[in-house]
Order: sequence, then C-alpha cells, then structure tokens
Amino acid sequence: MAGPTAVGKGTVSADVRERYPQVWLSVSATTRDPRPGEVDGVHYLFVGREEFDRMVAAGEMLEWAVVHGRNSYGTPRRAVEEKLAAGVPALLEIDLQGARQVKESMPDARFVFLAPPSWEELERRLVGRGTEGPEERERRLATARVELAAAPEFDHVVVNDEVRRATDELVHVMGLDVQAAPTPL
Ligand code: 5GP
Repeated sequence: MAGPTAVGKGTVSADVRERYPQVWLSVSATTRDPRPGEVDGVHYLFVGREEFDRMVAAGEMLEWAVVHGRNSYGTPRRAVEEKLAAGVPALLEIDLQGARQVKESMPDARFVFLAPPSWEELERRLVGRGTEGPEERERRLATARVELAAAPEFDHVVVNDEVRRATDELVHVMGLDVQAAPTPL
C-alpha cells in the first residue's frame, strides 16, 4: 500500500491491525525520530544512519528510499519472506519509490494506492494532524503531487473516504474475506 502524506495510511493500517489480526504488518526501519506515541519495533524500527546504511549494504532491505527528501525508510527483507513462506498475508506500507522496487523483485504482489477523496481534503488532513510545521508540510505536499500522478501504476486505487470501508476494500484486494458489518443492537 502506498499513498500520499496524510491520506490516512497509518489509520488504515491501525484498523487492519485491529479488525484483521491475521494480516501481518511489516515494520519498516527508518532514520527519522519517533513521533509521540510511536513505539520502537511496533510502528517502526528506529535506527541510526549508520545502522540503516549497514542494512542496505548487507542486502537486508527488500526495498528502501529517501522519502520527502529527508529520512530513509526501508523494509527488512527477512521478516517479509518468512511470513510469505508461512502463508501469512503481509501488508507493506511504503512510498511510491519503494512500491516500484517491490514490483521489480516481487511482481506477484498486489499494489494498492490509497487516495484522498480530493486534494483539498488531503491538505485539510495534513494541517489537521498538526505533526508537521509549514515547511515540512510544503515538502510533503510536493511529494504528494508526484505520488498522486502515479496512481495509475497501481493495480487498485482505494479512496480513503471512510476508514472502515477503505480497510475492507484493501483486505479484499489482499484476498481476505471482508468482515460483515456489525449489526446494530
Ligand atoms: P512517516 O514519516 O509519515 O511515518 O512516513 C513517511 C513516508 O514514508 C510515508 O509515505 C510512508 O509510506 C513511507 N514509508 C514508511 N515506511 C517505508 C518503507 O519501509 N519503505 C518506503 N519506501 N517507504 C516507507
């Protein structure tokens, strides 16, 4: 799964974690600092530049990229290969450059682009979450413009208009059975 900044990839991932525990979420390594509430080993493996570069040089990354012109992010290869070998559905939340690399090495993977209902809504969500200053927001919106233009490269575009609906569509694309909506009491 890829998609522009603030589209709700983290929210959809959290919903997958909660409602579809049979899906394994890949934990990326990153050189960026943890945000409040982020747990090392759960949301990311927070590593120093040296350790990140070592992992890349040792061929331990399935894919990696510098995102938003700043920090490096990568998917440790071994965990993904182990899950797939065990028949466990695996979800990678990565950027466009990473998705292109995975397409090269794992052409059978399914590629989902999580899209905002509109550009205005994307800007609203980015400002609303309040985790980036104006400069970083501009940097992320510049990346987002490039990413949105690449949506047609993906197998499926899922519009994140409503989290549960988007999650259900995503896991359906992954080949899982979608949960029935809870019946009101
Ligand atoms: P954030 O800093 O907001 O957590 O993530 C910034 C961007 O990095 C997001 O677009 C996210 O999808 C991307 N990203 C996170 N993990 C990985 C990864 O392992 N590989 C790649 N290529 N991108 C990643």
